[in-house]
Amino acid sequence: MKISMVDLCGQYRRIKEEIDEAIGKVMESSAFINGPQVKAFAEHLAAYNGVRHVVTCGNGTDALQIALMSLGLKAGDEVIVPVHTYVATAEVIALLNLVPVFVDCEEERFTIDVSQVEAKITPRTRVVVPVHLYGQCADMEPLLDIARRHGLCVVEDAAQAIGACYTFHDGTVRRAGCMGDVGATSFFPSKNLGCYGDGGAMFIQDDALAEKARMVANHGQRVKYHHDIVGCNSRLDTLQAAVLDVKLKYLDQYTEARQAAAVRYDRLLADVEGIVIPARAANSTHVFHQYTLRVPHGRRDALKAFLAERGIPSMIYYPVPLHLQKAYANECQGKGSFPVAERLSGEVLSLPMHTELDLATQEFIADSIRQFFVEN
Ligand SMILES: *Cc1c(COP(=O)(O)O)cnc(C)c1O
Repeated sequence: MKISMVDLCGQYRRIKEEIDEAIGKVMESSAFINGPQVKAFAEHLAAYNGVRHVVTCGNGTDALQIALMSLGLKAGDEVIVPVHTYVATAEVIALLNLVPVFVDCEEERFTIDVSQVEAKITPRTRVVVPVHLYGQCADMEPLLDIARRHGLCVVEDAAQAIGACYTFHDGTVRRAGCMGDVGATSFFPSKNLGCYGDGGAMFIQDDALAEKARMVANHGQRVKYHHDIVGCNSRLDTLQAAVLDVKLKYLDQYTEARQAAAVRYDRLLADVEGIVIPARAANSTHVFHQYTLRVPHGRRDALKAFLAERGIPSMIYYPVPLHLQKAYANECQGKGSFPVAERLSGEVLSLPMHTELDLATQEFIADSIRQFFVEN
């Protein structure tokens, strides 16, 4: 049996007829840019998320960049980000001549340690970018509270958590990416709502901010050839929107399939000593973009190699925290500055996780993990 981290082909086959028809329609109309499917998908996703505006763009990294470009920031303004995340978050900050200010993460939740945020705020701090890592929301209620008190904008990186729900203490429930000023997401093929190429979107509640983000993504123009602000060119193409509009109908089913697979992993791995299975936060659902173990005591890489020998892929998201990356290294923040993130980068191991994962495959994976700890 061939095991893969994701099974996009199996997922496609289940909805092949619908997808092929949607793609065929775009081909016949040949409205490849800004066809009606783009607007339709944006409206359907806005309704799904319970947010006023979905502004589509070329990919998730662009979504983060356009969000920051829309907030009226000045060079040198500081943006608070977690160190245990994908590079895109820090990259766009640096590209815009803003200053990334790093914060460590929570050991169990893997997301930004909100209790350490306030100490990082200076007169130049303008934005905080929580990342809803692996499919679970960062602890947004206390973070939004800090942002409000200090007049900061909040840009959520929801690339891994579309559909996740966060519950506030008064019972209010909001979707990932729909709690701050802008939520950025990615439709990269392997994301929970993935297209067949690149795609991204922003979730925005405020009308004026949505209008600004639309302008930025479209060369800074509201009226064609009249450029009021410096923008960029970032579009979700019609073919991708057509694919996404079909797949959005299945997103809840996909999420449930991932959650069921996670519960099976939990059960199969419960008695394995030597690993820590992913914790669930009390105030967020988990949509399991990744099922990420912690493997302490320096045994992670040996386990990964053992699994690979048995044809089981696994991935390390992410092996080097941002403050130790050459491009973002800062002499004041060397090794030891963010102990939790540094420890996690040596312990995390993500197992195969996708909508088509079956019990037999998971049993084989779990048995192999158990076998490793028997032999080692
Ligand atoms: C995938 C991802 C992005 C970037 O999305 P792209 O569409 O690949 O540009 C940003 N942040 C996180 C946390 C991601 O997982």
